[in-house]
Amino acid sequence: MTRGRSGNGMRPAERPLDETASAPRFFVMVGGPGAGKGTQAQRLAVALDVPHVSSGDLFRAALESGSPLGSEARRFMDRGALVPDELTVRMVAQRLDDPDARRGAILDGFPRTVPQARALDRLLDRRGAGVEAALYIDVAPDELLRRLSGRWICRGPEQHVYHERSRPPLRAGICDIDGTKLRQRADDRPATIRTRLAEQLPPMYEVVDHYTDSGLLVAVPGEDTVEAVTSSLLGAIGKHGERPAPVPGMRA
Ligand SMILES: [Zn+2]
Repeated sequence: MTRGRSGNGMRPAERPLDETASAPRFFVMVGGPGAGKGTQAQRLAVALDVPHVSSGDLFRAALESGSPLGSEARRFMDRGALVPDELTVRMVAQRLDDPDARRGAILDGFPRTVPQARALDRLLDRRGAGVEAALYIDVAPDELLRRLSGRWICRGPEQHVYHERSRPPLRAGICDIDGTKLRQRADDRPATIRTRLAEQLPPMYEVVDHYTDSGLLVAVPGEDTVEAVTSSLLGAIGKHGERPAPVPGMRA
């Protein structure tokens, strides 16, 4: 599926073709809540020059714009129901029709379940593409709990945010900036987080198994620094993919 350099029908506005643009590259991020998928997806999108497609962002945009898909999603959310896979798949499919996604994409927040993963396979297949690798950021459930449940917010009007480990206040329980007492939101309390993990981790492990079975899983330890996790991911993608590095000769 090579696009000719002088190909007819190529609009002048399109970015110039080079060897690395010949086939789209699709990656999916896999990891529990708090594993850092979003951060890593953004960094990889820049490094690989493909768009970062976050299902959370797509939902927010659809709800705000009041698009038909957004209104449909709202009907489920208003009654506290999960948005069905089929609707999520349609929203992602629509995004992948945008011109920039012809180069590929880093999918973040999708697929969350095995049926979604299968739907993605079909979706990409219809576009003559496939998932190149599923990037699993492996973080132990206990560590996810610590990361997610350590958030405290001040009672001041600006609601300054602290974290027990990554951004503790100078004096325990007191805001550094306005001196108000810190409180924990219901969503950030350990019991709530435990419930959330118990709901979200089992389907995620099934997605991990799905991509392990298809030989596409690339797992990296996720308890390192953000920079180290990005390098592990890029290194693993380089080893996993058959294609040569984009700029040969640039590596030591
Ligand atoms: Zn404050």
